[in-house]
Formats: sequence, C-alpha cells, structure tokens
Amino acid sequence: METIRNLVLSCLDEFSIDDDKLIAELNCIIDKFGDEVCPVIFSVLTHLDLTPDQAKDYWKQVVSHRKSMSESLGWGVNLRTAICDYFCTINKSMKNPIIIEICVLEDALYSLRYDSLTGLHSRRTFDEIFLRETERANRYGQELSILFFDIDDFKKVNDAFGHLAGDSALEHVARIVIGGIRAIDIAARYGGEEIVVILPQTGKADAFVVGERIREKVENTKFDYKGQLINLTISGGVATLPIDATDAECLLKNADIAVYKAKEAGKNNVVIYSENRRRFIRVDFITDLRVKEVYSEENIVAGETKSSDLSAGGLLFKSDYSIDIGTKVQLQIPTGISDNPLLIIGTVVRVEKFNSNQLDIGISFIEVDNAVKNDLSKYIRKCICEKKTLDKKVNNKQL
Ligand code: GH3
Ligand code: MG
Ligand code: MG
Repeated sequence: METIRNLVLSCLDEFSIDDDKLIAELNCIIDKFGDEVCPVIFSVLTHLDLTPDQAKDYWKQVVSHRKSMSESLGWGVNLRTAICDYFCTINKSMKNPIIIEICVLEDALYSLRYDSLTGLHSRRTFDEIFLRETERANRYGQELSILFFDIDDFKKVNDAFGHLAGDSALEHVARIVIGGIRAIDIAARYGGEEIVVILPQTGKADAFVVGERIREKVENTKFDYKGQLINLTISGGVATLPIDATDAECLLKNADIAVYKAKEAGKNNVVIYSENRRRFIRVDFITDLRVKEVYSEENIVAGETKSSDLSAGGLLFKSDYSIDIGTKVQLQIPTGISDNPLLIIGTVVRVEKFNSNQLDIGISFIEVDNAVKNDLSKYIRKCICEKKTLDKKVNNKQL
C-alpha cells in the first residue's frame, strides 16, 4: 500500500500542471495494480476513507465531472477543483474542505506517524498497528510477541552528560533496535526512553533471542558522544500471544511487568513474562559441571555432577548428596562458548527428591560477571536456535 501511495504522490508532483496527463497516469497505475489504487488516490487527495468499489465509482464520476465542468466553462478545469466541487456540491460528503499544499500535509502526517527524535514509529501509530496485529494473530491462530525495552539508569546519563547526549543515546539505541529486527517487525518509541517492538508470527523463544541479541549489542557498542564514550545497557521484557494474553492491553501490560522484573533482577537483562515464579528461558543442559561451596576450596559439595537444565538465572542438577537451602556455591559450567568454563556464584534454592536416589538441586545465580552473562546468554541463544521446537516445551514448562 505504501508503494502505491508513493506512486500516486510522485504522479501528483510530476504532472502538477498537466491534469490530462495526470489522469492518464493515474489510470495506468489503476490498470497495473487494480482497484485498490482508487481508495489511495482519494485518501491522498481528500482524506476520505473509501472502499475500493466506492472509490472506483467516485473516480469515474470525478473524471467525468471535470470533463463537463471544462466544457461548460471553456477551459481545462483543474482535477483538484473538480474533486472539491464534486464532493461539496454533488456527492456532499464534504462541508468545509481547506486548501493546503500536499508537502505541508505530508510533513504533518509524517510527524504524527513517526517519532521525530528516533525515527521509530510514534506511540499513536504503535497503538493502531498493535491492535490490528493482535486481532490478526487471534483470527488466524498465530503467535505474536511483544518486546518492551527500557534504557537502564537513563537519568544518570542525562545528569552526567546532559540532555542532548541523552537524546543522542536514545537515537543510538533506536538504531540498534532497528538493526536487530526483521522488516515485518514494528519498532516504536512508546514513551520517554522506552522502545517497544511488535514481532508478528513469533513465539516466546524466538522473541527472547531477538531481545537478548539487541540487549547484548547495546551493551557491547560503546556510544561515542562528541568523543565521550558512554556505556549504555537496556532491560527488556517479552510477552507472547496467546499464551500470556490475547488482548493487546494485557499483552503490553505483561511485557511491562517482565521489564520490571528485569530491573529487579539487576538490569541489563531480558526477562520473559510468566505468571509463575520462573522468569528465565530454560534449555536442556546435560553436561558435567563442578559445584563447590563458596570460600571452601576443599569442601566440594557434589564433585563432578550432571546438570539437567540451565537458564540465565539458574541451573538444576542432580546430586547424590543433599545441600542445605541457602548454601552459597561456586559453579564451573562448561559451555564451549569460551575456552574456560563459566564461573558463577549461586545460592541453593531448591532440594527435591524424585524417583531415583538422587536429588534435584536448584541454584539461583547471584553473582554473574557481565562477560560471563553474555557468554551464558550466547550459549542459551545457540541452544534455542538449534532447537526451534523448544518453544512448545518452553511454554509448557513455564519460565
Ligand atoms: P531505570 O534503570 O530504573 O529505568 O532508571 P532510569 O534512570 O532510566 O529511570 P526511568 O526509566 O524511570 O526514567 C527515565 C528518564 O529518562 C527520565 C527522563 O529524564 C529521561 N528521558 C525520557 N525521555 C527522554 C528524552 O527524550 N531525552 C532525554 N535526554 N531524556 C529522556
Ligand atoms: Mg523508563
Ligand atoms: Mg529507564
């Protein structure tokens, strides 16, 4: 539709003083693209919202009205004059049309549709598109995810470097977001330093992968403001239709809740919305790992053990021995992402016994260095990308 709109606009520009040629060219576009062109012509010239059938009929009537006006008056009447006369005196769907140069109107419309600072879609456009996309996803039984980003400690950026630097930082983050999404995804500035992305036909796991990739890029791309290097990080939340909500308002609210959890979890995180306690995506992880009690070189809690799943927030492993809840442990986790295993400090939060004699021990990570966090995130993304079917499993397990 945007292509047709642009074709109509350039036709109007090119043949602004030759209406016979203009009408002939517009008719050529109608022949080429079909009746869908007619409502676009009227939308551009009159802002009337017409169906293709109505618009096709009006187009014929307007062209013939111009012809009869020209014959009566004895000169070639301008197409816009004929349109104005047709809609005010014959069709009567307009009462007080005003005259405005099209480029002035187009500029005004552009600033309604797009955010002037970042070039992202405006909040207003987002609201419209989001409603349409959620309705479409519900109708066709498709998934749709929403990614909500909020820049971390942005007040501090403004305070330390000034508001103009803050504005540029916002543009910088917006560019990274745009660079990290597909052409069919829609990124908008939701408010202040919040950016929201609609990901049609996208499940939880894939949306998380996109969000993490963007988060990591923001963290790793130093922002250069007039020679000053500014470190930026963002927190993100993911919510997915239909599992988290089926209406636009709840879906957005849930993505916002996930952002809040990401902030709570220490910022520079992407969190997936979940109604229950778990909030990180989990992947299978059947690998030997070392677990020992913190500050005690000798006191190895479980020696080499097999873990069973891993997330950005924790790990579950099997152990022959029980460990007290609250014990601080140091983990060495081999992932193959870097040469050395990842070193992470965590707390025992769960000890459960199932069928076997072994216990399931749940660890929640408490100290994760940023470089380790990125390696962990890369590893989890790799697992998700290699196993697209995980989406369903993820949904069942809840995060
Ligand atoms: P948090 O990590 O919790 O998100 O902390 P924060 O400092 O980012 O806090 P919060 O999100 O509540 O505040 C956003 C701040 O962003 C407030 C305002 O000063 C700043 N801000 C919002 N819009 C703009 C903008 O267009 N330009 C600039 N320079 N600053 C903005
Ligand atoms: Mg904010
Ligand atoms: Mg913020």
